[in-house]
This record gives sequence, C-alpha cells and structure tokens, in this order.
Amino acid sequence: MRFADGRQETFDLVVGADGSWSRVRPALSPATPYYTGVTYVETSLDDIDHRHPDLARLVGDGSMAAYGANRALVAQRNSGGHVKVYAQFRAPLDWHENPPPHLGPATAVDLDDAEAVRSAMLALFDGWAEPLLDLLRHGTAFFHRPLHVLPAPHTWPHVPGVTLLGDAAHLMPPLGVGANLAMLEGAELAEAVAAAAPGALDEAVRAFEEQMQARAGKWAEMTMAGLDRLVSPDPADALALFDELQPS
Ligand SMILES: Cc1cc2nc3c(=O)[nH]c(=O)nc-3n(C[C@H](O)[C@H](O)[C@H](O)COP(=O)(O)OP(=O)(O)OC[C@H]3O[C@@H](n4cnc5c(N)ncnc54)[C@H](O)[C@@H]3O)c2cc1C
Repeated sequence: MRFADGRQETFDLVVGADGSWSRVRPALSPATPYYTGVTYVETSLDDIDHRHPDLARLVGDGSMAAYGANRALVAQRNSGGHVKVYAQFRAPLDWHENPPPHLGPATAVDLDDAEAVRSAMLALFDGWAEPLLDLLRHGTAFFHRPLHVLPAPHTWPHVPGVTLLGDAAHLMPPLGVGANLAMLEGAELAEAVAAAAPGALDEAVRAFEEQMQARAGKWAEMTMAGLDRLVSPDPADALALFDELQPS
C-alpha cells in the first residue's frame, strides 16, 4: 500500500471496504460505477414527532412512499425522531446545470444553495398533495445523490492478498440492502480470516469472495430491476412491484 503521505507498507491482506469510488478496486477489476439515470435529492427532518406531528403520522413507524411518472417521494424514519426524505427522479446527470423543461426549475440550480434546491424540488413535485410537499418545505439541508452502480454481477478473478466488500465490491441502487450486505460481509470475512489455518488465508478469502459475489450479484440485479420500476414512466409499475413482494 502506498499512502498519500508517502508511506509504504506491506500487508498479508488488504480489504477494500472504501465504498463506491474505491481506490482498492482497480487492483482487482477494471469496473467503474456508471450513472443509472436516477437522481435522489435528500433532505431530512429532526425531532419530527414534536416539531411536525402530522408529518410524523404520515411517515409512520417505517417508510412512506408516493409514486408519480418518473419521480417519487420517499420518507424513511431513522432513530431519534430523524426522518430522511428522498426526492427521486429520472434526469440527466447535469440536470441542475441545464434543467430540461419537464423537470420543473426554469433556470440552473445551485446545489450549494439549500433554498434554490428546495424551490427546484417544489417545482418538480408541483401539484402533489400538500402534506407530501411539506416534507420538502420543512427539510433542512439538501444533498444531491445521483445514483451510480457497478455492472452486475460484479466478479473478478481472485488476486492473492487483496479483496473487496460492501459498495466497493457491488455498488447497487439504495433499496434497503447495501448497508446490510456490507455489515454481513465484514463479519463473514472476519470469521473466515480468524478461522483460517496457518498458510490457508488465501483459500479462506477466495471462498469468502465466491459466496459474496454470488449473493450480492442477485441483489444487485434485483435492486436494479426494482429501481427501473420504482422510478418509472408508469407509477402503476411501483405499486405492482409492491404487490409482487407481498408474501403469499
Ligand atoms: C441515499 C441512500 C440511501 C441508502 N439507504 C439504505 C438503506 O436504507 N439500507 C441499506 O441497507 N443501505 C442503504 N444505502 C446503501 C448504503 O449506504 C451503502 O450500501 C453502505 O454505506 C455501504 O457501506 P460500505 O462500508 O461498503 O461503504 P461506505 O459506507 O461508503 O464506507 C466507505 C468508507 O471508506 C472511506 N474511504 C473511501 N475512500 C477512502 C480512502 N481512499 N482512504 C480511506 N478511507 C476511504 C469513506 O470515507 C467511508 O467512510 C443507501 C445509500 C444511499 C446513497
């Protein structure tokens, strides 16, 4: 490993757990994330139960979503009365510099200006029910999250001494899976390393990779297909998807 401060060190195993734009991944794979065509603009509400009880009831104990043509509004309750709100929409990557007419804002949007982003989102969701728009009106900071993914399934020929896990290995649309996979894989790799007999570290890492790639590949394909239906020209696609996911 060569570090930014010039240090160099040698390790038995380097684990690239460094997320979407992993610096370790190129040691194993030429794959790079590509834009899905869907952007999230994220905002959040704090202490929602006291400050916005109506919105707290709307969001409920879990997540709430409303779907329209090529756009959706999703709110997710986190701990401590914190709620994340995602405005999701299909748009070119440079939508904020050259907003297409159907996207709402008439002029370029400065992503560093929270009020400009709020106005752009209110224009994008113009005509939606007032309580949904209130989620945007009361949001604090706004973050721009164009969704990128790795090709799925992402596999690579095993290279001794280096591996990947989490988003570095299988960046996929954020549909409730990525953090869970990353934590599971961290635990599995730790167990595999701890249990490896002397001289068998490489074999243990290879077995870990095979299991991880097969499992994550399935989730990556499912979440990519899911994103296409959740942010789709026909909002009925999203509702049909939820019907299909109901246990029979
Ligand atoms: C909007 C959004 C909503 C999401 N919602 C959910 C959800 O509800 N449920 C779910 O399971 N998942 C969700 N995810 C996905 C989840 O956030 C990721 O899958 C998860 O964070 C991946 O974990 P990771 O540890 O692999 O990568 P990361 O969380 O990205 O962590 C990588 C770490 O490496 C560090 N790093 C990067 N480069 C270097 C470097 N060169 N040197 C040192 N450190 C470095 C970074 O600073 C970072 O701390 C969501 C994602 C997004 C974008």
